Amino acid sequence: MSGIADRLNGVLEKISSAAERAGRDSEAVRLVAVSKTRPVGDIIEAHNAGQRAFGENRVQELSAKFAELPGGIEWHLIGHLQRNKAATAVESSSMIHSVDSVKLAKRIDLVASRAGKTQKILIEANVSGEKSKFGAESGDEMLKLGEICLELPNVSLLGLMTMAPFGAPESELHRVFSRLRQVRDRMERELGISLPELSMGMSQDYETAVGEGATIVRVGTAIFGPRQA
Ligand SMILES: *Cc1c(COP(=O)(O)O)cnc(C)c1O
Repeated sequence: MSGIADRLNGVLEKISSAAERAGRDSEAVRLVAVSKTRPVGDIIEAHNAGQRAFGENRVQELSAKFAELPGGIEWHLIGHLQRNKAATAVESSSMIHSVDSVKLAKRIDLVASRAGKTQKILIEANVSGEKSKFGAESGDEMLKLGEICLELPNVSLLGLMTMAPFGAPESELHRVFSRLRQVRDRMERELGISLPELSMGMSQDYETAVGEGATIVRVGTAIFGPRQA
């Protein structure tokens, strides 16, 4: 059975080849290793193999691992964030991928200002429109949210994040990922800003996402193995 380091390197190779096939620079795609539910030993193993960025979907778990693990790790909050947990998230997250409302953006700005920090954020888009998913559903809503984020001095809006429907066919994956890119392009044009980051692609679909322009892929299972239910 291969270990975490081998699987990590396998994922990095697949990212490189997918970027190459799309005529992109493989350096333009960063891997966030999704370590939710994994023990710290697994994270240390990946860290020792050279991985620096890790993603968690729960604030409490991220915060506990942030406190326990070495300072050089870059923590990404990728799951839904409740406003009353924004301060804890800001303390420990290098980037928050899941900003999905004006109220949450304003709350992050406030707690970041108290912490003397500028918080990097992404706006989450629910491109597929599934009811089970969080995120802004229309291009207009994204634009509005983007416009407001620009007025907040303690958040730095860097781009967009989405999740494709689980088990979707290849054609649907292309549609969802290219749609996120188009919304990003529209926001850049209409707001006159640069939004370099597209956080899209998980274990099942990261190669497709890289082909459609992902700059951050969030991969858990393909590195750490299946999670317990
Ligand atoms: C769990 C999770 C991932 C990683 O999922 P895998 O299928 O294990 O790669 C990526 N993004 C988000 C938002 C997640 O919650």
